[in-house]
Amino acid sequence: MAMSVLEHRDQLNVQPGHLFIDGAWSDASDGGTWEQKNPATNEVVTTFAIGTAADVDRAVLAARRAFDEGPWPRLTAKERKKYFSRLVALITEHGDELNNLQTLEMGMPIAFSSLPVVSSEMAAGVFDHHAGWIDKICGSTYPTYETSPTGGDVQIMSFREPVGVVAAIIPWNAPMMLFAQKVAPALATGCTVVVKPSEFAVLTSLKLMALIEEAGFPPGVVNLVAGPGNPTGEALITHPGVDKVTFTGSRAVGKRILEASGDTIKRVTLELGGKSPSIVFEDAPSVEGAAMMAMGMVSMGISGQGCVCQTRSLVQRSVYDAFVNAAASLVGMVQFGDPFDAATTSSAIINARQLDRILGFIDKAPSQGARLVAGGDRPGGDLAQGNFVNPTLFADVDNSMSIAREEVFGPVLVAMPFDDEAHAIALANDTEYGLGAGVYTTNIARAFRVAKAVRAGTVGINEYTVWPNAPFGGYKQSGLGREGGWGSIEAFTETKSVIVGLSD
Ligand code: NAD
Repeated sequence: MAMSVLEHRDQLNVQPGHLFIDGAWSDASDGGTWEQKNPATNEVVTTFAIGTAADVDRAVLAARRAFDEGPWPRLTAKERKKYFSRLVALITEHGDELNNLQTLEMGMPIAFSSLPVVSSEMAAGVFDHHAGWIDKICGSTYPTYETSPTGGDVQIMSFREPVGVVAAIIPWNAPMMLFAQKVAPALATGCTVVVKPSEFAVLTSLKLMALIEEAGFPPGVVNLVAGPGNPTGEALITHPGVDKVTFTGSRAVGKRILEASGDTIKRVTLELGGKSPSIVFEDAPSVEGAAMMAMGMVSMGISGQGCVCQTRSLVQRSVYDAFVNAAASLVGMVQFGDPFDAATTSSAIINARQLDRILGFIDKAPSQGARLVAGGDRPGGDLAQGNFVNPTLFADVDNSMSIAREEVFGPVLVAMPFDDEAHAIALANDTEYGLGAGVYTTNIARAFRVAKAVRAGTVGINEYTVWPNAPFGGYKQSGLGREGGWGSIEAFTETKSVIVGLSD
């Protein structure tokens, strides 16, 4: 019998999705809907309303009213924290359901969807972390620079104020965590929000929206308008009522957002793609361990469909063969299958367009001189109904090849040798991206030298994880601005200087 996820859809009682605007659920103004498929089986798991330009306008106006006239930005810190506490409790209570919905919407294997790094536990943790900032958002005081022109003393200070109405546009690959990473800091700082989830993963966003409603947030504070980039996303990023766009997604759409935001000088935070290197020295704590880490990032979990995956392995020549052999050996541990089966390790590719794109990169690489060590094809049998691609390893890659320069966003690792530290740093930085990097060495001085020399927003030394309390973002074309920790508070606030004359 062919694999199916529909039984889980029914158990989770998934209903067609609606828009949430100004505290109420509704259909799209023109009745338009979109079919969301699970990529492991290509079955339709739900339909949801596509927000039109008119719907987006209604959502932005609701957020505008809630910001300009409503209680939310004016609440005391203590009151605002109460909403967060209720929401964190609700996310925790519905944790398993949320993890299952994530598996249903984008095919993330349930074992991975339940891991703290991308699960409901992380979403709750991100809201909890930002709740802690609410009563600590503060400005500064400055010494008097010189006697004021009126001859008296002055007190100079700065306030941090919410930036206003935020458009939060999220991708499909870690939808629950990314919803939280955007909505939590916006709400903590007193902003109001219109969320647009990806058209390829709406279910966890709809559920989180329902929990926000249940937690009693005032109408208009959070609105959700689902739909594709066009018309929904375009209507949002070009709307004059939006003060800030916070976006996670591809570089191409990031560039479009920068262009569109110029009209009304919107504030913009962009978390974009990457082509992150792992730099493995011969004195790595374990060359095999580093190989497992790199190959694991592209073959386990979401099968390399992650922005921070270390997809370019730069390996010191003396341990290069050992690294390639160890990376290839991990391929046998990958288990495709029903995403709700706890034994399944790896997901399918999100959609047919992305599948074709990945296979295109794989087809082209050998003609450019890359050596195919493992994978390069698709599994057959039952799995052929889904968008699976076998984990793929190319060795002897030159950094000028497209497989080394473009973000493949799939289960593909490329390995290339380096001769010395200077060569490794030159290769690591020879990229248009700068999201992450890994350094594997037991020489502490070298570890820090390389970490300082690599132009990337997050560098892991013999370790690699993203934490909600640390700044996260990209150098170069991997993004603009930082989110996470105090970086998020800065990103969602304006600074106002206030000068007080002290003369009677
Ligand atoms: P995408 O850019 O295609 O879509 C992201 C979101 O933008 C979706 O909600 C989509 O509907 C919307 N969108 C598309 N066109 C738009 C437009 N013209 N106006 C407004 N919105 C529009 O990306 P994706 O395929 O969903 O995600 C994969 C990409 O995201 C990869 O490049 C990956 O590296 C990146 N990513 C980055 C991070 C990070 O934090 N740096 C995290 C996850 C994913």
